[in-house]
Amino acid sequence: MKNKKKDIRALTKAQLQEFFVENGDKSFRGSQVYEWLWNKGAHSFEAMTNISKATRGMLDENFVINHIRVDRMQRSSDGTIKNAVKLHDQLTVESVLIPTATRTTACVSSQVGCSLDCQFCATARLKRMRNLNPDEIYDQVVAIDNESRLYFDRPLSNIVFMGMGEPLMNYKNVMKAVEKITSPEGLGMSPKRITISTSGVPKIIKKLADDEAKIKLAVSLHSAINEVRTQIMPFNATFPLEDLRESLEYWYSKTKSRITYEYIVWKDINDTRKDAEALVRFCNYVPCKVNLIEYNPIDDGNFQQASGKATDMYQNMLERNGITVTVRRSRGKDIDAACGQLANKSA
Ligand code: SAH
Repeated sequence: MKNKKKDIRALTKAQLQEFFVENGDKSFRGSQVYEWLWNKGAHSFEAMTNISKATRGMLDENFVINHIRVDRMQRSSDGTIKNAVKLHDQLTVESVLIPTATRTTACVSSQVGCSLDCQFCATARLKRMRNLNPDEIYDQVVAIDNESRLYFDRPLSNIVFMGMGEPLMNYKNVMKAVEKITSPEGLGMSPKRITISTSGVPKIIKKLADDEAKIKLAVSLHSAINEVRTQIMPFNATFPLEDLRESLEYWYSKTKSRITYEYIVWKDINDTRKDAEALVRFCNYVPCKVNLIEYNPIDDGNFQQASGKATDMYQNMLERNGITVTVRRSRGKDIDAACGQLANKSA
């Protein structure tokens, strides 16, 4: 049986240079190949035109390039684009391009499926199949950058890890991808334009603070009362609000970077004054802002967006207490590309 070839993009630059030296070539060759892989986005060894044919053949014998493939692209009436992305093992994830007048945001996936069980999220219905590799995350970003240039005449400006999966449950690979996205050999983007969104894994939030990644942090809060939060996000029983609070205080003390809380107001779940007051208290722990986001129904009828009155009540109460709040409208609903709707449904 043939030896299983290694994914060449799992190697660091130093490892690639070492490979060439070990094979009687110069370490410089490693740098050239690395540039093809990461800067020029080569999908095949064939494409590496300044590398000799013999060397390309040698690479082909030892490695594969597991590039993602955009299997299907859908465009929403509001300009949002959703990519169904096929991975080398035929699994699929989704990523979304969200255009506004001034920016283009890529919403990328970090896992195939998700291991968390948020009751209101379509991705939670899919079993977590596996973590994405750094190159699979990076490729989603590059694909959206290309689409942004093609359809909107400008490069990608922002990235949010709000696609499928829990980024902090695939921490190492997400951070490797961030490194590539921000490095001059990759896309050279500023980490300040990258937001990692988490349901709240306290230990990893602290690690993120220690690692000084300079990215922004968003937390999907949805309730500041343990009993309510556990009901809609059952893993809150393992990572309760007190632990989350402590990790966020640590994050702020280290990074001085304001946190964004994502929050949906649902009818009969968290639409009372008591719920809003709890949120205000939680907001006072660490400098933050609140995004009140629209609920995107996932057709089971258990969750319904609260009335405009309830959202106004939240907004007023937050503002009265000096907390920045934005009410965010959903994008891409007609193609199931909005938050919480990613479930590999492209029919
Ligand atoms: N696991 C990460 C990132 C993926 S979810 C996290 O929880 O933050 C991205 C965002 O979509 C989160 O804020 C999540 O709470 C929100 N979301 C999930 N389901 C939704 C739905 N049906 N409607 C609107 N937003 C939803």
